[in-house]
Amino acid sequence: MRLVLVGPPGAGKGTQATALSRRLGIPHISTGDLFREHITRRTALGRDAERYLDAGQLVPDHVTTGMVRRRLGEPDAQQGFLLDGFPRTLPQAQALTAILSSSGAPLDAVLELTAPADVVVERLLSRGRPDDTEQIIRHRQRVYRHQTLPLLTHYAPLVRTVHAVGTVEDITTRALTALTEPAGHP
Ligand code: ADP
Repeated sequence: MRLVLVGPPGAGKGTQATALSRRLGIPHISTGDLFREHITRRTALGRDAERYLDAGQLVPDHVTTGMVRRRLGEPDAQQGFLLDGFPRTLPQAQALTAILSSSGAPLDAVLELTAPADVVVERLLSRGRPDDTEQIIRHRQRVYRHQTLPLLTHYAPLVRTVHAVGTVEDITTRALTALTEPAGHP
């Protein structure tokens, strides 16, 4: 199965992606995690990306897209994948379509996690990542609304919306159920 997970910062994408990738037997590919690995390893890409992560800004599309293209070319991604945090812009979505069309394997679904704003801010503040200060969180939420929300219209026929408040297990169950439903009936 080829899936994309979309949701505001703090909606629990990473947690659900870990659970869903285990249940579905597909690799969890998080662009945020890939960037943080590059930064830790001090690669050239990591040095490029670091200032954007620190500021809560999106890394330029060509950098992000190149990194994802390489990752999706690895053997474990040939039978499916769960993309977490990519695409986040329309140009990234178009790049993904191009990457996938070259292998004739389109996306199966886009899972949207939704949660009220006060819940997501509280989750982020309790997690303590360096880019989780209140000001940077607010900026990331704005970037999400402006750059990423339009993707839900772009992907409308593939979108399954999952209410992401509850226990981790409950939300995973809701997501797995949503994936078995026909498109257009969340
Ligand atoms: P969150 O969803 O909480 O913002 P992520 O780990 O998904 O956390 O992303 C952290 C940061 O990594 C983002 O603020 C951004 O700087 C960068 N990033 C992640 N995914 C992308 C992407 N698809 N395009 C551009 N930048 C990205």
